[in-house]
Amino acid sequence: TELSTLILDRIRDVPDYPKPGVVFKDITPLLADPIAMAAVVDELAGAHEADKIVGIEARGFILAAPAAYRAGAGFVPVRKKGKLPSATLEESYDLEYGSATIEVHRDAFAPGDRVLIVDDVLATGGTAKAAVELVERAGAEVVGVAVLMELGFLKGRERLTGIDVRSLVVV
Ligand code: IMP
Repeated sequence: TELSTLILDRIRDVPDYPKPGVVFKDITPLLADPIAMAAVVDELAGAHEADKIVGIEARGFILAAPAAYRAGAGFVPVRKKGKLPSATLEESYDLEYGSATIEVHRDAFAPGDRVLIVDDVLATGGTAKAAVELVERAGAEVVGVAVLMELGFLKGRERLTGIDVRSLVVV
């Protein structure tokens, strides 16, 4: 489609970043293009009816905050451990080497809030899965996960059974 071309033409492959053998999808050319950025934000914002849109640190923030504004929803940050100032819930997940912990404020949601989780790239799905757990533990309802780009070969979607996962492009 037109939108996928607009996106794919503006995502740069960076070989061997952040380490040898990994091809990193760099979204900064897309962020710098106002037409493509507006189309992407509109599409993410329309993925689901939501009361709150969660952005995952750090590139998720860049997409989720304008999507929340567009949708008339609130924005909630999910951050790496130690960055949020008030009382938090935390969730750890495995990485290829070691583990990572993300957090959300305990009082970020009203009971029953419908929440859309937004990030730039869905890879193994570990990050998105942890974000789903956090939102649910905080008493809200996850209505979906929306990402700019899904790395299909990593099968992240399979870790998110029962969750409506929308990706604007799959590679
Ligand atoms: P996952 O937990 O393996 O699905 O990795 C997803 C997280 O890592 C997201 O928060 C992404 O921002 C980041 N990520 C993984 N691979 C890439 C990439 O190629 N480009 C940009 N971000 C990536």
